[in-house]
Amino acid sequence: MIFETLSQTGHEQVVFCHNKDVGLKAIIAIHNTVLGPALGGLRMWPYPTEEEALNDVLRLSRGMTYKNAVAGLNVGGGKAVIIGDPAKDKSEALFRAFGRFVDSLNGRYITTEDVGIDVNDMEWVFRETEFVTGVHQVHGGSGDPSPFTAFGVLQGLMATLKHTFGNEDVGKYSYAVQGCGHVGMELIKLLREQDAKVFVTDINKEPMQRAVDELGCIAVGIEEIYDVEVDVYSPCALGGTLNEKTIDRIKAKAICGSASNQLANNAIGDELGKRGVRYAPDYAVNAGGVMNISLEIDGYNRERAMRMMRTIYHNLTRIFQIAEHERISTCKAADRMAEERIDAFGKIKLPTMGGNRARFLSHMRGH
Ligand code: NAD
Repeated sequence: MIFETLSQTGHEQVVFCHNKDVGLKAIIAIHNTVLGPALGGLRMWPYPTEEEALNDVLRLSRGMTYKNAVAGLNVGGGKAVIIGDPAKDKSEALFRAFGRFVDSLNGRYITTEDVGIDVNDMEWVFRETEFVTGVHQVHGGSGDPSPFTAFGVLQGLMATLKHTFGNEDVGKYSYAVQGCGHVGMELIKLLREQDAKVFVTDINKEPMQRAVDELGCIAVGIEEIYDVEVDVYSPCALGGTLNEKTIDRIKAKAICGSASNQLANNAIGDELGKRGVRYAPDYAVNAGGVMNISLEIDGYNRERAMRMMRTIYHNLTRIFQIAEHERISTCKAADRMAEERIDAFGKIKLPTMGGNRARFLSHMRGH
């Protein structure tokens, strides 16, 4: 049954990690390593069933293959999940046991933080393996990726404006930003620096009020965000907000934000295209964070990271061109761009980790 699923999803390897003494139940999924070692975060979540944990890690790792490929990175796609409650089940031993499993893969999988995991947890993982990114700056890590993600969203936004309105004058347009969290707030700052009109919402009143008081935004209700008359809707909170219920309400001509998995399904992407709404595919737009941590593999450099964010502009431009040329939705165009890169690379390079591993070990945190 599992192999049947894997043959459909195209995964290379799935590792079940178990340590009864420390209560570790984890799954590492390596989807594709044609472009390089599989890079993707570790998520800790109290999955009600093991099947749900497996489905999640398979879905997320496949997503990382596409995201990393479109971002132009020399890394493949992978992801890991720990079954457990992040509020109750964390311990040093748990993360160190997980770290040993990561280490046993010899660089085929490189981990980092995802939902439920913070930089302190990664410190324990880092005690057991070098194959960790996103650790604290004191260890040569790149720190919080959110400002990079937000700067990357701005690059994607400029490409989106250019293709929708014919110019990329950010300050000329109005925005509905959903979510004033780590990325949303940074993006709001960048938009307000250019005097753009910005409507904001958040289920948490405190950051929303800060956006109003300190940055001059206009607050609207949680539901109202879909109805405001703006040029761009920018989802920066949860996934699935583009669905059958919301797309009739959205007035914006363009959609560009950081939230992962914005489309409830691919048909919504097709429908947006038919309605003339330009959807900037989420995984191409929000790649700034993964670009940033990927640089830790070669030895982190902040300036290089900022320069790299600019490629998001070019990637989006390419996606819009493919969509127009092939008459397909922008989300399908992004998938096609990823698949073409993996296919082309697969022809010129054997899927070996040797070079990457040596580089990783010699550069990682100045070793
Ligand atoms: P965050 O938790 O800091 O911020 C999310 C914000 O959204 C919070 O303030 C939360 O209160 C708010 N929110 C939640 N539900 C809401 C709702 N229904 N309506 C309005 N607001 C709501 O998270 P983040 O790191 O800023 O990430 C935001 C999104 O971007 C997520 O989907 C994440 O997966 C994606 N993303 C983030 C990064 C990164 O570098 N942090 C990278 C890639 C993708």
